Amino acid sequence: MRDRRAARLRAMTHRYTVLHGGTVLTFEGALPTDAASRAAGAGAPDAAGRRVTAICYAHDRILAVGIDEEILALAGPDSHVVDLRGRTVLPGFVEPHAHPYWEGLVTGMRLLAGRERRAAIRALPGGAEHLEPDAWLVARYDPTGWDLPDDPTRDDLDRAVPDRPVLLAHVSGHAITANSLALALAGLDRASPDIRGRMVIERDEAGEPTGILRGPDAWDRIAASMPALTPAEGRAALARAAARLAADGVTSVADADVGSTAGVAAELAAWGQAIASGAMPLAVALMPGLARIAPGVGDAVPSPADIAAALPEAARTRVRLSHVKLKADGALTTHTAWLRAPYEDAPHAGGPVHDPDMLAERIRRAVKAGWGIATHAIGDAAVAAVLEAYAAAPASTCPHRLEHAMLLDEDLVARLAASGVTAVVQPEFLAWAGPTYRARLGEERAARLLPFAALLAAGIPMPFSSDRPVVPGAPLDGVRAALRHDPALSVAEAVHAWTAAGAAALGDDDAGRLEVGRRSDLVILSRDPTAVPTAAWARGDDGVAVVATIVGGRLVAGQLEGLT
Ligand SMILES: [Zn+2]
Repeated sequence: MRDRRAARLRAMTHRYTVLHGGTVLTFEGALPTDAASRAAGAGAPDAAGRRVTAICYAHDRILAVGIDEEILALAGPDSHVVDLRGRTVLPGFVEPHAHPYWEGLVTGMRLLAGRERRAAIRALPGGAEHLEPDAWLVARYDPTGWDLPDDPTRDDLDRAVPDRPVLLAHVSGHAITANSLALALAGLDRASPDIRGRMVIERDEAGEPTGILRGPDAWDRIAASMPALTPAEGRAALARAAARLAADGVTSVADADVGSTAGVAAELAAWGQAIASGAMPLAVALMPGLARIAPGVGDAVPSPADIAAALPEAARTRVRLSHVKLKADGALTTHTAWLRAPYEDAPHAGGPVHDPDMLAERIRRAVKAGWGIATHAIGDAAVAAVLEAYAAAPASTCPHRLEHAMLLDEDLVARLAASGVTAVVQPEFLAWAGPTYRARLGEERAARLLPFAALLAAGIPMPFSSDRPVVPGAPLDGVRAALRHDPALSVAEAVHAWTAAGAAALGDDDAGRLEVGRRSDLVILSRDPTAVPTAAWARGDDGVAVVATIVGGRLVAGQLEGLT
């Protein structure tokens, strides 16, 4: 049987690529948890699937996976035969929740971080050095490491940059600060109203805006007054994001809120150009913001086909459109996540973005239009409200998702498991903002954040993601953060969460596993991640690095001798 198949493959004259002499973890037939495979008895596949030594692919398809002897027999005179020299091949990492358009734009942009709040803000004018005289200065700030946690105010920004409009975005995206010029250009003053759930204008004792805006509409409210980005600028941003993602081993990426930076039309145009031109070679899933494509609760929701029609034909077949993005609450770092009990360090519990019946109605309409729903829910009250809304919605063809699902308890884990909903979680958040989370929630609640092993044990589909550029976002850093946070998780489970589980969340049968007939999306690592002890990963001295990234049979990042 095997000989006949080998002969048939040899007879077809294709430029095969054969990688041999390494470890190939297929994730084929893999169960999401080692615990589940252990329970299934000896011989059951573990979370990393089958372990072999070689793989053969041609163009964008995997042709064979097996041991050196059988795979080397497939090579013909025009094949590329590459000795892995002990390196490890995995399915390319799948990033099911990122913001590549925003990531590309913020690349090279100032990030005000570090220890000292004053020093961070003092660095702001440096971001304006290469700008035209009246151009906007856009930058980000990350107060999670600051000595004083207060968000910058308009006065801080006015002192630093008095002569041009400044828009400073919290790294989470859930709050912004504008200086006085930016507020004036946006027409925002003491008479401007808050929008319940969507935008709170912080005010001083005299009722004047402090420049700080919180909530999902904060960025849009100010950014609408900035000059629009051109499609070419958008395409260039996506090219930068693609290069960064590929260098980190990512072969599939989902934009988890198309329209959040420059509006849906502009961003779809940029995605279309980037994909059609080859500037974005990764597999792409686009998740339009539901409140952007149907602003009013009663508005007709465009279908996936309607959104696809806005893309150029060359890009249309290469984009997955399965979920819309919705927000039920904000972020813990900005006190906007919706909790059941008040914050430890603020006299309130956050609140919902949408009233519960409006949330349910939006979800119902989107499902009827053919979408699965991916709802941002971080606080325990938000998670509960979204699960209720999903339960009340008509049946959907693709499983709904909960984005972040951070603050859980046993009851919520059980309800999540019963719901069939996928939990798309971000381990690197914990490494980034752990002390801030403890300050916001107190020790007891902070200890309940993101119980990865418990989620898997309950049978909940649990892909990892990073929400980059909120954090730098390399999947290997996500593995490190996950294993530091939850030692009960195995390395294979953590890598499964970055591969097979992510592909399943995107409904992409072609990715996430190294199996004959699937897309040849691979990442080559310096060593077998599952051979490194959990403790070494947690300490960060695992020595595992991305050597090369291959999408559809094409090398898109890194290098390996003999590989083109
Ligand atoms: Zn996000």
